[in-house]
Amino acid sequence: IFAAVEMAPRDPILGLNEAFNADTRTDKVNLGVGVYYDDNGKIPLLAAVKAAEKARLEAMPPRGYQPIEGAPSYNNAVQNLLFGKDSALIANGQVVTIQALGGTGALKVGGDYLKRLNPAATVYISDPSWENHRAIFESAGFAVDTYPYYDPATRGVNFAGMKAKLGELAAGSVVVLHACCHNPTGADLTEAQWGEVVEACRARGLVPFLDMAYQGFADGIEPDAVAVRLFSASGLQFFVSSSFSKSFSLYGERVGALSIVTADKDEAARVLSQVKRVIRTNYSNPPTHGGAVVAAVLNAPELRQMWEDELAGMRDRIRAMRVGLVESLKAAGVAQDFSFVIEQRGMFSYTALSAAQVEQLKSEFGIYAVSTGRICLAALNSRNIGYVAKAIASVAKA
Ligand code: PMP
Repeated sequence: IFAAVEMAPRDPILGLNEAFNADTRTDKVNLGVGVYYDDNGKIPLLAAVKAAEKARLEAMPPRGYQPIEGAPSYNNAVQNLLFGKDSALIANGQVVTIQALGGTGALKVGGDYLKRLNPAATVYISDPSWENHRAIFESAGFAVDTYPYYDPATRGVNFAGMKAKLGELAAGSVVVLHACCHNPTGADLTEAQWGEVVEACRARGLVPFLDMAYQGFADGIEPDAVAVRLFSASGLQFFVSSSFSKSFSLYGERVGALSIVTADKDEAARVLSQVKRVIRTNYSNPPTHGGAVVAAVLNAPELRQMWEDELAGMRDRIRAMRVGLVESLKAAGVAQDFSFVIEQRGMFSYTALSAAQVEQLKSEFGIYAVSTGRICLAALNSRNIGYVAKAIASVAKA
């Protein structure tokens, strides 16, 4: 059966982890990851999560199946975070939300549903984008193309290029947009630019698909939702995939959601019935634990405050690492201006280091980054930041 099976290409980032794990140097640093580490270099278990888990353990609830779409307490809490608790869309019953297996699972359910809805559409992702965007939509059966996004000259967004491309797409094209904390570049749109993207989607009849994997990692829960809020106010229909992997540090629990904004309550009921068919034939219904923990935290004011404080702590620590890295590079005598790293948002930065410099960081210093020059700021801490800055200074000056 398997004799002719070829080896699939290795995932570039997971491959990096394997090489890092095999490296015996004690001062090695892995900046290639997409995970938040605390100042001790550990993945945090949030106190709010611990409290909710303790209560759950004590209650020892039975483990029956969840509804296909997940628990209402979870889905409602997700809607409030994304659309705002006073959202007219929620009050009108226009939003369909289903619990998904992380942000990845939300994108896949959304992709599979879109394929049934509009099989001939092309999906457009940013250039560059999170590696898995292309793979997920291709595996759903779509042709995937790109729109211009990153401008290496300004280290920001090539907004003119992006807008021009959106303005020429065929009606019904699906446009995947990073709602905040763009992965991999760290370059986000301004509120005014989001307004223009909304109007471009309206003018061309595009299908916006917002991917929100880092709500709360840039400026805060509410400000980071600006793109979702502008689309909400537009009267357009759109998709949102969201994830608690980072914001709750619940990576392995696979907690995310897909939300679809429809025209009215009746449409929402019909759309939900179709999305449930997609889920039923894939994994039938979502796992219980992660969603129950997130719902417990979001729905209890005390735990929610605890979580918001912890999330702010993660956000502030990343920002401190951005500032610290830029200052250390300057102190190390690097002529090149790295201040753009402070402007970028979320966990990642496109550092403008070349593939050769990234290779040198690995071979000479045991510092691992993605060959595109993407580094994860959340992997820096007070102990390794000086070493990393010196190493970057060394390869940048060479
Ligand atoms: N979208 C983007 C842009 C991401 O960076 C990630 C996580 N790396 C995801 C989606 C998926 O998140 P999850 O781990 O929850 O599946």
